[in-house]
Amino acid sequence: MNAAATTEHTHCLRCRRVLRSARSVAAGYGPTCQRKVREAAKAEVVSQYKAHLVAKAEELIEQGGIIALRGHRIFQVVASNGTDTYKAAPQGCTCAAGLKGKHVCYHRIAAHILSLAA
Ligand SMILES: [Zn+2]
Ligand SMILES: [Zn+2]
Repeated sequence: MNAAATTEHTHCLRCRRVLRSARSVAAGYGPTCQRKVREAAKAEVVSQYKAHLVAKAEELIEQGGIIALRGHRIFQVVASNGTDTYKAAPQGCTCAAGLKGKHVCYHRIAAHILSLAA
């Protein structure tokens, strides 16, 4: 097994349905859920964030690096090193930048997008 291989998802990260197509398995979302997430990323409230952070947030979502916990209000983020995890919500995040609270980190933006799509 290649350690760098991306995680394969057997169930949709949003609705938990079984994923059947290879594309959905790689994306972590079924086609309908992926469309809803993409639409949420274009919402007006999301456009208040800096565009390059929104792009990173979308990338995180598309890589399946953020998953919903507890009723789509709290999310678990896998850090870029692949081992650390953070808890993120639209209002806050437990990563180093998030704890300082000076800037909105892209984890919070990703949590916001997914909470809109929930
Ligand atoms: Zn789904
Ligand atoms: Zn963060």
